[in-house]
Amino acid sequence: MVESKYDKIMRIAKNRGFIWPAFEIYGGAAGFYDLGPLGSSLKDKILKKWRQFYIVKEGCLELDSPNILPEKVLEASGHVDHFSDVMIECSMCGATYEVTDLVKEVTGEDVEGKGKEEIKEIIEEKRINCPECGGPLGDIHDFITMFRTAIGPEEDRVAYLRPETAQTIFVNFSRLQRLARRQLPFGVAQIGRGYRNEISPRKGIIRLREFLMAEVEVFHDPENPTHPKFERVKGEKLRLWTAENQNNGLEDYIEIKVEDALNQGIIINELLSYHLAYAKMFLLSLGIPENVIRLREQVVGERAHYSEETWDLEVYTEDFGWVEVAGFAYRTDYDLSRHSEFSNTDLTVYYQEEGEDDGRKILPHVVEPSYGIDRTLYCVLEHSYTETEEKEYFKFDRELAPIEAYIFPLITDDGLPEKSREVLEALKDKGIFAKYDSSGSIGRRYARADEIGVPYCITIDHQTVEDSTVTIRDRDSTEQVRTEINDLPQKIRKLLCKEIEFEEAGSTF
Ligand SMILES: [Zn+2]
Repeated sequence: MVESKYDKIMRIAKNRGFIWPAFEIYGGAAGFYDLGPLGSSLKDKILKKWRQFYIVKEGCLELDSPNILPEKVLEASGHVDHFSDVMIECSMCGATYEVTDLVKEVTGEDVEGKGKEEIKEIIEEKRINCPECGGPLGDIHDFITMFRTAIGPEEDRVAYLRPETAQTIFVNFSRLQRLARRQLPFGVAQIGRGYRNEISPRKGIIRLREFLMAEVEVFHDPENPTHPKFERVKGEKLRLWTAENQNNGLEDYIEIKVEDALNQGIIINELLSYHLAYAKMFLLSLGIPENVIRLREQVVGERAHYSEETWDLEVYTEDFGWVEVAGFAYRTDYDLSRHSEFSNTDLTVYYQEEGEDDGRKILPHVVEPSYGIDRTLYCVLEHSYTETEEKEYFKFDRELAPIEAYIFPLITDDGLPEKSREVLEALKDKGIFAKYDSSGSIGRRYARADEIGVPYCITIDHQTVEDSTVTIRDRDSTEQVRTEINDLPQKIRKLLCKEIEFEEAGSTF
C-alpha cells in the first residue's frame, strides 16, 4: 500500500516525538493528541513567532484567563444556544454521526448551513444508512458541543470548558480598555486551550476535541474601522475565494491586491483587510509557501452566530485538502452588547479621537483573528516535509527548528567526547537548544538529525584538540565550514536568527 503524505509525516512524528494519539495504552480517545518533546518545542517556536507578530509588533495586550467558564458567560455569548452540531444516531447499533460530515462522506454533497428538515429529506432521498452496520438512521437533532462540567462540591453551578478564548477578553473589556489608555483601535490577545466536544472526529490531528488557540480581539470605532499601518500591507496580494463565487459554483479564487479588495467591497472594512494580509505574512514567516495559502469567505448559514463577515485562512494539504488554520470574523458589537445586557454592566465607552473637540459614547466593534495552533503546526510539518533520493526530513525554517544544534564527537575516543560535552555546555549556556549524540557512524547521526530538521550539526574531531576549531554542517546544503570554538555560540545564534548566512559562519576547507 502506498503511504500517504499524512501517514509519512505521522510515522516520523510518532517515532521521533513530535505528536502522537493521547491515552494510547488505554486504547486512545479520538480527538486528543499529545505533543512530544519535539512537538512541544515546535509549538513554542510557532507561539514565539505569533507573539512577535501580535504582541510585540501589533502591540496587543495579552490576557491569560481560566479555561472553565460559568454558564452565564456562555449564555450571554450565545454559545449555550448556538454552539452545537447536528447529529444523527443509528437506530440499530447506536453509532452517532455529525450529519454534514456523514452526508459529505457518502454523497460528496456539502449540506453545511442547510436546515434540519432539508437535510432529513436528502438523507431519505439518497437512502443513506449507517456506514457501520447498514441500519436505518433515526431523527436529526442538535447536540451542544461544549464540554459541560460543574463548579464546587455541590455541583450547583453549571460551567463549561471554553469553546474559544475570546469570551474572557469581552468580559474584561472595561479593565483592558483602561490599560489601552482608552484609545481605539486596540487589540487584546489570548493564547490558550479551547474545547469542542466533536460528535465523531475522524480527521486525525485536524479535528481535535481539545486544541490550542491564539486569538486577538481588535476593538475599534465602527465609524472608523481603519488600521494605522494599512499602508504597509495595501499592496500585498491575496487569493480570495468569495462567498459569491462559491454560491455560483466557481471552484476558484481571485488574486487581488488588498486595497483593491477593499475598494471593490469584497472585504467589509480596512481593519479586517489589514488582518487578512497580516495573517498571510505570518504564515509565510513559518515557511508555509504562498501557493498553498488562500482565504475563503464563509457563506451565509456557515458563519457563527456572532459574525457579519468571516474569512477562513486555509492551507492546502495533500490528505485533507484545504484546511482552515485561522478564522477572521467581523463580530460587530454583538459580544459587548450581549455582555452589557446579561451582566447589567454598561460597556459603552466615551471615546474622543485625537484632535476632536467632542467625544461620543460608543460600543466598540470587534474584528477577530483566531488561529488554531495545532493545525498550524501540522501544516508546518507537512510543508517542511521533504523527500530526496537519499533521505526524508523536515526542512524547517531555521527559526522554527525544534532542536537547534547537534554535537557529535567524530569517534568516542581520544578525549573527543569530553571536548564535545564542553562545547555542548557552552552552547546551552548561551540559550541554544543543543543535544549530544555519539552513537553509530557519523553518517547515521547526520541522518537522524536531518530527519527532525536540526539545522546545524557540529563535529568535534582530532583537529579540535589541536587548534580549538570545529566543523558546522548545514542541513540543507550539507556543506561544512570550520570555526573557532570561542565564536561558536555567537555564530550559531546569528545563524538561527538569520543575521548571517552559512558561508559567513566560518571558513571552508
Ligand atoms: Zn449502525
